[in-house]
This record gives sequence, C-alpha cells and structure tokens, in this order.
Amino acid sequence: MEKFDCVIIGAGPAGVAAALTLVRKGLTVAVFERGEYPGSKNLFGGVLYSTVLNKLIPEFWKEASVERHITKRRYSILSKNSEMAVEFGFEDFNHPPFNNSFTVLRAKFDRWFAQKAEDAGAVIFTETVVDDFIYDKGKVSGIKARREGGDVYADVVVCAEGANSLLTEKAGLKKKPLPHQMITAVKEIISIPKDVIEDRFNLSDNEGMALEFFGGAVKGMIGSGFIYTNKDSLSVGVGCPISAMKENNMKPNDLLESFKSHPVVKKLLRGGKTEELSAKMIPELGYKTLPKLIADGLLIVGDAGGFVNPSLYREGTNMAMYSGVAAAETILEARQSGDFSEKGLQGYIKKLEESFVMEDLERYGDVPEKLSEMPQLFKEYPDAILKMVQGYFTISDLPKDELHRQAWNGFKDNISMWKLLLDMYKARKAVL
Ligand SMILES: Cc1cc2nc3c(=O)[nH]c(=O)nc-3n(C[C@H](O)[C@H](O)[C@H](O)COP(=O)(O)OP(=O)(O)OC[C@H]3O[C@@H](n4cnc5c(N)ncnc54)[C@H](O)[C@@H]3O)c2cc1C
Repeated sequence: MEKFDCVIIGAGPAGVAAALTLVRKGLTVAVFERGEYPGSKNLFGGVLYSTVLNKLIPEFWKEASVERHITKRRYSILSKNSEMAVEFGFEDFNHPPFNNSFTVLRAKFDRWFAQKAEDAGAVIFTETVVDDFIYDKGKVSGIKARREGGDVYADVVVCAEGANSLLTEKAGLKKKPLPHQMITAVKEIISIPKDVIEDRFNLSDNEGMALEFFGGAVKGMIGSGFIYTNKDSLSVGVGCPISAMKENNMKPNDLLESFKSHPVVKKLLRGGKTEELSAKMIPELGYKTLPKLIADGLLIVGDAGGFVNPSLYREGTNMAMYSGVAAAETILEARQSGDFSEKGLQGYIKKLEESFVMEDLERYGDVPEKLSEMPQLFKEYPDAILKMVQGYFTISDLPKDELHRQAWNGFKDNISMWKLLLDMYKARKAVL
C-alpha cells in the first residue's frame, strides 16, 4: 500500500505552493496532475501576482520563466468603433520587486514552479487523473488515481483541482456553480517580434503592459477583453459569464474574433501570428456562496475554493498560492496533535480569514453580481458618452457652441443624468 504524509490533487499554483511548503518541512508529498506536465493544461490571462511566491522563492524572477513586469496599465471602454481610455505608467514598478506583477506563460511557469517542488522532494505523478477520494470511517484517507495501483493513501489530502472542481463537488463541499458564477474565457497567444511589441506599446526592455477592454469589446456584456504583453507574444482574450453568453447566444470563439476585429484592437495585433488558442473557466462564486473548505482529512485550495478576486485586479494566482501555503501550514500544525479531522484543520479557515484572501473576497467577491444589475454600464452609457464626445470633436462649419449643444442634447435625450450619476456612484462603490 502506497502512503504519503500528504497527497495533493493538481499541480497548479495552489497545489505546488502547498507541496513546496510541506516538503521543505520534511513531509512526504505526492502531487497528481492530469496534464502531460504541470502547466500543459493551464492557461490564464497573463499577470502573475507574486507577493506569496516572492516569500516562497525570494527574487524568483531571476530564475523563473517570467515574460515582462507590468509598469503600464490601460483601461478602455469601446463602442462599436470608438474608444475612451485611461492609461497609467509607473516608473517605480520598474525596479525589484517589480510591483509583484509579471506576465507569464503558464506552460512554462507552472513547469518551473513544479520543478522547484520536485527538487525539494515532492513526487509528481503527471498524466494521472484523480477520480475520487478514499474514505475511512467518513474521513478522507487517500485518493483513487486512474493508473495501475491507483489507490494512494495519506494522512491528509489537499484538493487543488482548479475551477472545474468535480472532486470538491463529489465530496459534497460545493454545489454545482450556476451559469452566472462561472466565467468562460478564451485566449490566444499571438506572436509578434520583441522590438515591435516594445515600439507599439512604448515599452523598454522587459517592461510590460496590461490592457483591459470593456463595453463593445464583449458586445456590451458584463465581462472584458484583454491584451497582455509577453516577451515576443501577446496574450489576447475575452471572458464573460456563461449566463451572459447564453442570453446573447454567443460562442466564446466568435466573441474573441469580434474583439480582435474591433478597429482599436486590430491595430494593436497587426502582423501577429496566432500560436495557440485555448479556453478555460474562472470561478466567480461570490463571497456568500464560497464552498465548504475543510472536511475530515481534506482541504480545498485555489480556484476550487473560489479564490479569485474578480475586480480590476483579477487576482487568482496569488490567492491560490496563499491558500496553498495556508493549507500546508495548517497541516504542519495538525501533525503536532495528530488530528486531521475537520476540527483539527480549522486553523486553515482562520488563516484565510486573517489574510487578504477573505478580506478581498468579502470586499470584491460580489462585484460581478452587483454590476450585472446595471447592464447599461456596459452598453448604453459607453455608446452614448462616446457619441457625445465624437460630436464635440467633429469639425464642421457650425459654430462650436452649436456643435456642443447638439452633442449634449443628443446625450440627454438618451440618458437620464440622475440615473447615470446614481449608477456611477454604485459602480464605483462596487468596483473600487
Ligand atoms: C482566461 C483566464 C485569465 C486569468 N487571468 C488571470 C490573471 O491575469 N491573473 C491571475 O492572477 N489570475 C488569473 N486567472 C485565474 C488563475 O488562472 C487561477 O486563479 C489560478 O490558476 C488558480 O490556480 P489553482 O492552482 O487553484 O488551479 P489551476 O491553475 O487551474 O490548476 C489546477 C491543476 O489541477 C489539475 N487537475 C484538475 N483536476 C484534476 C484531477 N482530477 N486529477 C489530476 N489533476 C487535476 C489541472 O490539470 C491543473 O493543472 C485567469 C484565469 C483564466 C481562465
């Protein structure tokens, strides 16, 4: 009978952070990953937030597979063929620790991170799906892996299976998410020469930019499009709730094509060659409907636990790593007493509650739900504002006062100012 101190399901950021923390303290750890190698099945938008990683592996950027550090951010609202944008650049983020924001490609980054855990002593079984838990008198005591001799036992199991959390649901800790609680996202990697990227986005060597697009970028649905600069490629994608996609009879790939063909976006992508296309889900469960995170012999970490900050930060990786480390530290404490029951693992909840993870989820977790109550923010308002501004800047033989009056009247005829101000106030409160 194969037995480890801990078995971890999934070699994403959450699972590997847990594994690394445990093996460094001398525990035997097996990680099961269904992909051909860690990262082979993973994709994300592209910005790794790294406060936790920088503690686990100080100055990791010197050796890790990172693309660029983010010094510039641009937020755009698109209408059918116009743009309203605000751009920020921060020279202070151009120095270590680079504001702990790096673009990475998961296939490379996850592999590097998993290798660090392996070097420290973790055993990683790749191309191995975990199908179920093994129970002993109601306590999780191992897992059933889809391989010969696949029953593997452990004092405790960490489930780091990501957004599509079938095992967490199977264990009865989580209900099947509703369509508005899951984002479906598609992303392309588009190769463009390094010097072209730097010229086009006005970046110096290794500097990077994150661009987010709303409104017409995703056909006026709640959600967004994005472009993140890598070394010699761009990560380009869109993400919207499954419910919105259904209501608008929209397919993810069609939405991505429509985003890429918007005149503003098209110019940024010109000359690029699509290298890969993939799709994945992002959980947006909402703070009030997070799953149960512990059971006898079991802890849930990362996306499986719903730990994604859905606001403008879009922070999932850092929360995943924090939860992995918190789970590992809880396991180390539980070993002292030999109590891996739900009661013995309570420290995990306390650690999460005392950290940015639960504070941010409480603050931002329900943002998408609140914004979905104001669909006019993503379509009617951007269209009307851009039309008005276009009117202001349209040169004609009319006197400027008359131009401005026409533009303003056109706006007022379509939009109630009071409602707009109230919605802006509610949106600011929800998002910032
Ligand atoms: C399009 C998109 C854009 C995003 N953008 C950002 C961003 O810019 N910044 C950010 O911080 N976060 C972003 N995120 C979120 C981020 O990717 C996740 O929060 C993070 O990857 C969660 O890590 P995890 O380890 O919990 O899960 P994952 O990274 O999903 O890892 C789970 C692992 O478990 C494996 N697995 C699953 N089931 C089994 C099983 N039964 N048996 C064996 N192995 C299994 C999978 O193959 C996978 O390797 C984005 C996500 C998406 C989809």
